[in-house]
Amino acid sequence: MSDLSAWLRAGVEAVESWQRGFASWSGHPAQRVDPERFRAAFAELTERLTNNYPYFHPDYAGQMLKPPHPVAVAGYLTTMLVNPNNHAMDGGPATARMEREAVAALAAMFGFGEHHLGHLTGGGTVANLEALFVARESHPGRGVAFSTESHYTHARMCHVLGMSGHAVPVDAAGRMDLDALEALLARGEVGTVVLTAGTTGLGAVDPVHEALALRERYGVRLHVDAAYGGFFALLAAEGSPEPIDPAPWRAIASCDSVVIDPHKHGLQPYGCGAVLFADPEVARFYQHDSPYTYYTDADLHLGEISLECSRAGAAAAALWLTFQVIPPTPDGLGRFLAAGRRAALNWAARLEDSPHLALYQRPELDIVTYFPRRDTLSALDAASARVFAEGMNDPEDPVFLSTIRVSAAELGRRHPWVRPDADGARVLRSVLMKPESQDRVDRLHGRVERLAAGD
Ligand SMILES: *Cc1c(COP(=O)(O)O)cnc(C)c1O
Repeated sequence: MSDLSAWLRAGVEAVESWQRGFASWSGHPAQRVDPERFRAAFAELTERLTNNYPYFHPDYAGQMLKPPHPVAVAGYLTTMLVNPNNHAMDGGPATARMEREAVAALAAMFGFGEHHLGHLTGGGTVANLEALFVARESHPGRGVAFSTESHYTHARMCHVLGMSGHAVPVDAAGRMDLDALEALLARGEVGTVVLTAGTTGLGAVDPVHEALALRERYGVRLHVDAAYGGFFALLAAEGSPEPIDPAPWRAIASCDSVVIDPHKHGLQPYGCGAVLFADPEVARFYQHDSPYTYYTDADLHLGEISLECSRAGAAAAALWLTFQVIPPTPDGLGRFLAAGRRAALNWAARLEDSPHLALYQRPELDIVTYFPRRDTLSALDAASARVFAEGMNDPEDPVFLSTIRVSAAELGRRHPWVRPDADGARVLRSVLMKPESQDRVDRLHGRVERLAAGD
């Protein structure tokens, strides 16, 4: 029996033992199900679940996807049996406290002071929406700047909020071009700059530390979207097992807000994002008056500082439990991040020496981008698509990659030897977010090289 089976059994027993402490009562017949019917439906469910890519396996080196850690699963499923709602204290006092503790650990990781404001959200999109909502309230009538490589939801959320969105060009490594940003800020229309610490496509880290000076000069808010990259702050800390340039990560402590997705690099199942504000006073923007939900509590409770109403207390419990066992420190969760980044750097070194593949750009975090060597953009695009499809459809020796579309200008800037006979091309992309990727790079590289050589 795996650890997880034993932990789940212990969780069910613990919750049932708590339930037995209350007066006896009888269940309603409507609750009962026909065991045969359940068995058949459950068999169908588990069969249908096999129609998935093997996100757990190190040969899955595609999108930003992997299963949660068994510790998080045990925490989530056990808590789900109680089903607390972290909207308000009376929805789940225990998990509301766990949420505060887990959020405080995230705040400490970013160097935010003890007096921050923050909470978990359904994911990075809602967390960024909250940060932009606060930005709109604190800088009314002014817009938002984000880079052309930032997450697509920033433009969408600006639209939702009725704010103007301004896309800023990037440098040759995919980081926001601060000269272009400054020219935009000088026009006075922008009240908030979104910096991305780890872009979703390439894993590029915007120069947060250099942007700090612009905040003073133009009176703008700085929001950091670290939904994907946030936990790499652990590699910028003292004692990092795989040191990275600490400057942009340390600068996050001086920004106004930051978003991080524990459901990406924090070992959690989906439904776990977080937003943190350096100034707890922004709570005033969330004020509302609900007739039915609140205990009066001296502290603002979680429902008073979040745009969402009901939220799974189980998500908070899972993150809290994970942090007890694998804390957000360089020698805890940092080891996971370090292994993935090491894998990406090792693969990049092999790609640079390959006769069949070219490295699109050097990885900063754990995302590797590469493409089959071809003379023209159109041939390169077709070869990337073929490698992607053939790799995943090989029944004997499958390998799972993803593709990302880049423009002719972006590719030409990095690889002028490819003739631009089209306006863009797909290149291959691998997010190496499982620590097991570290020992798999040789095999992955060999497999993809054979595919790339094969026509
Ligand atoms: C994933 C991601 C988002 C969106 O987060 P969801 O959790 O998918 O809603 C936003 N920004 C960045 C940089 C991301 O990587």
